[in-house]
Amino acid sequence: MTVPVVDDHGVGAAVGAAAGAAAGAAPPPGERRHVDVVIIGSGFGGLAALHRLRERGIRDVVVIERSNEVGGTWRDNTYPGAACDVPSHLYSLSFAPNPSWSRTFSPQAEIQDYLIDTADRFGLRPHIRFDTELVSARWDDETRRWCLETSTGPLSANKLVSAAGALVEPTVPAIDGIDGFTGDIFHTSRWRHDVDLTGKRVAVIGTGASAIQVVPAIADTVGSLTVFQRTPPWIVPRTDRAISAGERWLYRHIPVTQRLMRSAIYASREALVPAFLDVRFGRLQETVARRHLARQVPDPELRARLTPTYAVGCKRILLSNDYYPTLAADHVTLIDSALDRVSDGNRLKAVDGRSAEVDVIIFATGFDVQGLPISHRIFDADGRSLWDSIPGDLTAYLGSSFAGFPNFWMVLGPNTGLGHNSQVFMIEAQATMVADLLAEARAAGVAVVEADPDRQRRWSDGVRLSMEGTVWTSGGCSSWYLDDDGMGRALWPGSTVSFWRHARSSVLADYRTTRGGDDGRLKATASTINDRDPVQASKP
Ligand code: NAP
Repeated sequence: MTVPVVDDHGVGAAVGAAAGAAAGAAPPPGERRHVDVVIIGSGFGGLAALHRLRERGIRDVVVIERSNEVGGTWRDNTYPGAACDVPSHLYSLSFAPNPSWSRTFSPQAEIQDYLIDTADRFGLRPHIRFDTELVSARWDDETRRWCLETSTGPLSANKLVSAAGALVEPTVPAIDGIDGFTGDIFHTSRWRHDVDLTGKRVAVIGTGASAIQVVPAIADTVGSLTVFQRTPPWIVPRTDRAISAGERWLYRHIPVTQRLMRSAIYASREALVPAFLDVRFGRLQETVARRHLARQVPDPELRARLTPTYAVGCKRILLSNDYYPTLAADHVTLIDSALDRVSDGNRLKAVDGRSAEVDVIIFATGFDVQGLPISHRIFDADGRSLWDSIPGDLTAYLGSSFAGFPNFWMVLGPNTGLGHNSQVFMIEAQATMVADLLAEARAAGVAVVEADPDRQRRWSDGVRLSMEGTVWTSGGCSSWYLDDDGMGRALWPGSTVSFWRHARSSVLADYRTTRGGDDGRLKATASTINDRDPVQASKP
């Protein structure tokens, strides 16, 4: 299938387009520029990691960014209605509070402006080499360096930090006959702003977080709208409102008020953890969602089709006040069956046989999370990709480091996603942990740091154990949180406080290390391992 959703950051497009590279032009052929640290990506994760490293005096850092601007997912997702469903005061970096948020839940453009402003305000931009995509990174045991091939030339680094993000590569389902579709097709995360939807017959495929934002946003523009729903989501009210000028004044002039607000939002989100860890505690959220549905959808037949049959929280709980009312509009049709195939040029047929003729197909079908796309570009000393090195069991110590991949860390690696709180909190916990470890290594004269395989396995076993009985694995749904075998490899099965505690107390003694200039490996002592048993400790 050749659906044109692949982004325009391809290697070919990026070559020669690095004019805006702030960290310098690509080196001449044959020359491999060497730096201390390379970070992949300049979204929330890359900016946080860069800032934390600089804070600790580690300044020989280059960030490679495949696009021409910072922002990651908030740069890429420009679909109408795109906004955050975590409150703004929490969905921001702790070191860069923004007293000027205009709404309690920020729209995409405001978050993107915030990230651009953060990069400028903290002097991060000179480190970023824009229009530079990682092609491959391979660890060289002899030189103890990462050898990178990028779209703008080779590079080498002592340490490599991937902040490439999790919701990055769009996915579309395999649909028979899609190649013969005569209209426009695109994915929500690669929105075609050049396609005018006015008066068109449009289909939105999917009913996840992106779809429920885009459907109400385009409904008044299109001629008709058909929504293909494979599984209905649980939806709760969105308590969005404008933040008053008085509140903003307070946050600007008495910063502690904003910190208190942030803490209050954080605490209220953390209080939801039990509802995810034990299906029985989810009743309250289900009641809220059912009432919302009943209030907004008076038609019992439509309401029945919109009522999920799995436990609330099993898939991401969505927030919307205008999605249900939009579905009730005369020119909007809900086909509660998966899109199966396309025929006759523009006829979309669902699995249950219902069909619609459309001019535009918008895939709101999510991202390749389980495939961890960046892992196919990272290679160990033997040339094995990170993906191939751990077949079927992608785990990382503290969701960040992998045995066999020295001096490599991942921000937002396996089991660091959240269903209940701000992802930015997890990003910062990991970014700070990596910066602390690198600073400790520098002070101790340690050149190479690598996950201890036993510790990684124990961590992974602990996470797996904690995942059992949670709503994500026992809630009766399938979601991008789980891999094909039903294993929960995306989410952190606990409170963010517990993750932060682990990350904060991570020290070099927990890793296998090699001092600069000799080959003596310092193994973590048994007592350190037993003192903070990851299996026990990861239990929420
Ligand atoms: P998603 O949650 O993975 O949803 C994909 C949707 O496509 C699902 O409803 C899926 O149905 C449906 N689908 C797949 N194949 C289909 C077919 N053949 N016919 C009909 N439907 C089909 O993707 P997303 O909405 O882009 O969200 C991904 C994640 O991005 C979210 O979970 C969230 O973490 C993040 N996000 C956050 C925000 C925010 O406000 N912070 C906004 C947008 C996205 P099934 O449910 O049956 O699989």
